Amino acid sequence: MAEEEVEETHVRFHEMGLDDRLLKAIAKLGWAKPTLIQERAIPLALDGKDLLARARTGSGKTAAFAIPVIQRIIISKQTAREQCVRALVLTPSRELSNQAHKYIQDLSSSCSRDVRCMDVSGQVELSAHRPLLMEKPDIVVGTPSKVLAHIQAKNLALQNSLEMLVIDEADLLFSFGYEDDLRSLLNHLPKIYQAFLMSATLGDDVLSLKKLILHNPVILKLEESQLPESNRLTQYHIKCKEDDKFLLIYTLIKLRLIRGKTIVFVNSLDKCYRLKLFLEQFSIPACVLNSELPVSSRCHIVNQFNEGFYNIVIAADENAFDVPAMDSDEKTDSDQRDKRKTKKKEKKSKYKKDKEYGVSRGIDFQNVANVLNFDFPPTVDAYIHRVGRTARGFKTGTALSFVNYSEIPLLQEAEKALSDGDVPTVKPYQFKMDEIEGFRYRAKDAMRAVTRVAVKEARLQEIKAEILNSQKLRTYFEDNPRDLQLLRHDKALHPAKVQSHLRHVPEYLVPRTLKQFMPKRKKRKRYSDQKPSQGKKDALKAVKRRQDDPLKSFQFKKPKTS
Ligand code: AMP
Repeated sequence: MAEEEVEETHVRFHEMGLDDRLLKAIAKLGWAKPTLIQERAIPLALDGKDLLARARTGSGKTAAFAIPVIQRIIISKQTAREQCVRALVLTPSRELSNQAHKYIQDLSSSCSRDVRCMDVSGQVELSAHRPLLMEKPDIVVGTPSKVLAHIQAKNLALQNSLEMLVIDEADLLFSFGYEDDLRSLLNHLPKIYQAFLMSATLGDDVLSLKKLILHNPVILKLEESQLPESNRLTQYHIKCKEDDKFLLIYTLIKLRLIRGKTIVFVNSLDKCYRLKLFLEQFSIPACVLNSELPVSSRCHIVNQFNEGFYNIVIAADENAFDVPAMDSDEKTDSDQRDKRKTKKKEKKSKYKKDKEYGVSRGIDFQNVANVLNFDFPPTVDAYIHRVGRTARGFKTGTALSFVNYSEIPLLQEAEKALSDGDVPTVKPYQFKMDEIEGFRYRAKDAMRAVTRVAVKEARLQEIKAEILNSQKLRTYFEDNPRDLQLLRHDKALHPAKVQSHLRHVPEYLVPRTLKQFMPKRKKRKRYSDQKPSQGKKDALKAVKRRQDDPLKSFQFKKPKTS
């Protein structure tokens, strides 16, 4: 199998020979120039080459395959006589399918009549997708098991039509247990098609996929560091006691040292709710994201976060500890056997965790200003994936990690793996703990309300509400997509009593050095300071007019009679 080394070139979008409508959609997304992976992959893909691309998280991988797929479909359709499914995009989870679908729709927004894309990964019955699949959308996106199920149900036929196959986040595909489904699916594809494998790592699984799928591929191993350069991504840590992490996050947010869209990573589900309830005590709204929530809620939360509805998401990254395995409620036919086997086990826990949920991998949270590791991630890989949620594309961002004494070895490991010579990559955050001592009693006060029972109740309440939202309202929201925007996920849970006096930070608590950054509290106007309203002004004018007019102001006084 020949592997080409690729020379460095600099090509702009408009020099790639792309259709005007595609260029228009790219401009609409505000992308001025291609990212490195796009610059390299798009021309090769347009040339008809098979590609194996390794690029770090946030590098613009999705558009690197989506742009050539759309372009090639536009060209094919200029001469094609019949409508058929020409491209298949496989992803390892519903969230990633949802995201790839959204990107393809954005990129084909100016040619949506010619290029139609359908996501078949949703949690609906196969028959619900059948009518749309019968119309043969140009691009089908989904997980291998859902696509295979549709092929087996004869809702989808690719044998005579498929021109392009994309496997996104290929390294996760095998570890999520899709190997058998993928192998069966390949039997339903034509002999010749162009294939793209996109992956963050090139491990053994990806290399075996490469043998299975690619023919004479060009291998793009981009000479990039694992995280963005230090001029775009600033990494800090604060060493502190475990209990002080709560005090720290509260003060950093209230003192506006953390501003903008922030993802807070914790290592457990319980901590996720504890932190939400704790922040609620200070009227700091946040929504939680974890593997117990239904997938439609998770997708909705990510979409709304991207649209700017929320500033703080608390994400439980429990999967950083587990090896993901096949255990997803969305898997279909071929998984039913395994499902039955594990049914007994599942009965034990009321709400099942979705192992496909990998919040730190793949999911594109947009415009994230800060990543805050409330708990330090257990592996260097987990650190990279979490921190990679910020400074994506060409943006800048900050990563801050709280490190308790037992987590110091993990920090040292990450520093060693990421260090650039003698320069420390994860710098200590210049912050004097004694300056925020005054906040301690407030944090303790708030913490007293966040009891175990409150956390348990909050967890149940949230899951129940989300399940209700996602199941009962799904059909309604399908017909009324605008109303879905009104459904918020950061509402206060309130199993703990909220103390309204904690909402504001009294001025005397603010460290002198930070006073200038605090917003000025509006002074209440005294009644006498207030400007008269328009109605009052008119009344005063009328009185004055009357006083100035002698005919009106003349008053006749009756002479007194003796
Ligand atoms: P991805 O690696 O595909 O998940 O993309 C990471 C982020 O980069 C997404 O938020 C994209 O919107 C953004 N992005 C992709 N391509 C570009 C580009 N050429 N210019 C600016 N941002 C981009």
